[in-house]
Amino acid sequence: MAEAYPHIFTPIQIGTQTLPNRLIMGSMHTGLEERDGGIDRMSAFYGERAKHGCALIITGGFSVNAAGQLDRKSASFNTPEIAQAHKPIPQAVHDHGGRILLQILHAGRYGYHGDIVAPSPIRAPINKTVPREMTEAEIEQTIVDFAQAAVYAKEAGYDGVEVMGSEGYLINEFTAPCTNHRTDQWGGSFENRIRFPLRIIQAVRAATGPDFILMYRLSVLDIVEGGSPLSEVRDMAQRVEAAGADVINSGIGWHEARTPTIAQAVPRAGFAWATARVKDALSHIPIAAVNRINMPETAEEILSSGQADMVSMARPFLADAAFVEKAQAGKPQQINTCIACNQACLDHYFVGEISSCLVNPRACHETLLTWTPATAAKTVAVVGAGPAGLSCAEVLAERGHHVTVFEAADQIGGQFRLASAIPGKQEFEETLRYYTTRIAELGITLKLSTPATLEDLTAFDEVILASGVAPRIPDIDGITHPSVITYADLLSGKRQAGDRVAVIGAGGIGIDVSVYLTEGDSDSHLNPDAFRRHWGVDQPADNPPPAREVTLLQRRSGKMGIGPGKTTGWVHRLSLLKAKVEMIPDVVYQRIDDHGLTILAGPEQRTLPCDTIVLCAGQTSQTALLEPLQAAGIPTHLIGGAKLATEVDAKRAIAEGIAVAASL
Ligand code: FAD
Ligand code: NAP
Ligand code: SF4
Repeated sequence: MAEAYPHIFTPIQIGTQTLPNRLIMGSMHTGLEERDGGIDRMSAFYGERAKHGCALIITGGFSVNAAGQLDRKSASFNTPEIAQAHKPIPQAVHDHGGRILLQILHAGRYGYHGDIVAPSPIRAPINKTVPREMTEAEIEQTIVDFAQAAVYAKEAGYDGVEVMGSEGYLINEFTAPCTNHRTDQWGGSFENRIRFPLRIIQAVRAATGPDFILMYRLSVLDIVEGGSPLSEVRDMAQRVEAAGADVINSGIGWHEARTPTIAQAVPRAGFAWATARVKDALSHIPIAAVNRINMPETAEEILSSGQADMVSMARPFLADAAFVEKAQAGKPQQINTCIACNQACLDHYFVGEISSCLVNPRACHETLLTWTPATAAKTVAVVGAGPAGLSCAEVLAERGHHVTVFEAADQIGGQFRLASAIPGKQEFEETLRYYTTRIAELGITLKLSTPATLEDLTAFDEVILASGVAPRIPDIDGITHPSVITYADLLSGKRQAGDRVAVIGAGGIGIDVSVYLTEGDSDSHLNPDAFRRHWGVDQPADNPPPAREVTLLQRRSGKMGIGPGKTTGWVHRLSLLKAKVEMIPDVVYQRIDDHGLTILAGPEQRTLPCDTIVLCAGQTSQTALLEPLQAAGIPTHLIGGAKLATEVDAKRAIAEGIAVAASL
């Protein structure tokens, strides 16, 4: 069935090796690199992906020396002992016929430790420390260190390395004019600025021989002031090819860039055009497109339109280990799709937790989160088909239990379906499509438009109460005024908003609703050209006026508009600022009447003359069935928002559903 995606499954030559398909599992730092027991867990993580058809995997980044570490705890690859310890990882991939490259990097001025170095002593906007300018001797030694790391990688059994030349790390700092102010042979002219990466490529090739895959990650788009112009990027690609690289992987945007590059605001394949602009500069080696490519049809389109020769996807392989296998079988509807939320991958990494995946909590936890067939099959009722109930039902049925899901609404999804109306969160529909497929495949009985009653549930061995949450109605004078609606009314289409809207509550939902209200006809989250215009990528920003005048309010003081995501807060706030959303903290809600919403903002009383007030003031658990079930002596398990409404998100809901299902 590979005919469904003929370009993906056309073999490709990389150096002296032939790969059976054109999908790459791109590099992701998972946090396992630094953990005790990490080697075993990485072996299981990568091995499982290779087992399901992933032909070329790239590990997370390993620094080539101490100065190049991301922080003092981050993993390096610079001793024979480390090489020896890594042997199980490539072995696990080779056992399933896959290939794996080690990514080698030097963090340069992005390092978070006391001795960071760079071509010039220019501080990165995202780092407080000014780097030390490298001496020529240090530059020469770093080239040796890259080559030595590659040799160690070969000794460990890796099939090659990816040299990290993008994202604003050290190599990129040499190539871009804005970070390289040197006047010696390593700076100034284009020839001088690219000397460092070319010498690294030549050194790695000389040290490892012709059969060792050498991938170079080239920044095809820096998105920083004073980054490399397109003409230099194309020349650089040619020089990388001539220096001995086997394949180029694209890098998009430096870490300090203030344009989203992988968040939900980015449309699918939103940066493939940047790779396409470089592709025809190359004469014989392939180049891979990257970023926000999460389904096989998107990858196929990139390949068939000639934008790239290969497609690299990272997070989609967290979301589904069997992505390639399912695509090859022509069954994309079975793929558990990455929704670009960053909530369990990047957000985890940034707070020192092991990466995982919101839609697949097994990712990077393959040895820890397992389930076996049930010893005795039970009849289990799941009340509620939100993320908690759906994930629970899936695993219960996989284990052999007989599962019936009751859902009050006429479709599955709960709050998660409401979320899919938000610009950028249309990907959430993929998760619901995945569960719809699983319900059918696993023979789960789904009763839609059926609010469960105690009577419905008494015959079951166990009940899972996944009845979720409802919007909180705050106690404000005039709250029943016709101008007041809940976010659920608005997003479900039950009620419409006028032109001037006040949003009460600036948590994740208040921010999302403000984006929804102001977005209008803009399709910047769906269309790469519109995205480029909206964010001003390689052209001046051009934003249509916001669809509505929105005021976002919260009782707390402090900076607003960031929301719960560690790595996406700045995107949310920028989006609100672009949409001219007025954000008012430190608010006391006084009353709602025909004049609008009267508040105290600090010492000042204001009446916001709004025609609609949207309540986004948190949620309360829906647990009306709990007491009757307990009184009837029916074993009942609470999960998701029904268990605790405070800060419930889909990540917690899905994880709790799986944990309970695995334990029954
Ligand atoms: P719910 O989603 O509330 O599902 C409960 C289900 O139970 C509902 O379908 C309901 O109809 C059904 N039900 C209730 N009582 C009965 C009954 N008696 N019989 C039958 N059925 C019943 N989370 C994130 O992680 N990331 C995000 O980016 C994100 N964005 C969001 C944006 C918006 C606009 C909204 C509204 C939510 C967002 N969330 C997000 C939150 C996330 O959707 C919720 O945390 C999650 O849906 C909670 O899952 P749940 O299964 O516990 O409950
Ligand atoms: P939330 O983050 O708890 O925010 C609720 C907001 O309502 C707060 O701003 C709170 O701030 C205000 N509030 C609470 N009680 C109030 C009251 N009685 N009167 C007036 N205001 C009140 O919850 P949420 O926005 O409803 O989101 C629900 C869950 O969904 C969250 O846990 C979140 O993680 C998840 N979510 C995630 C994302 C994401 O992008 N990752 C997006 C949306 C939702 P003040 O008390 O300061 O006014
Ligand atoms: Fe994708 Fe979200 Fe999973 Fe990260 S946590 S891999 S962004 S679905």
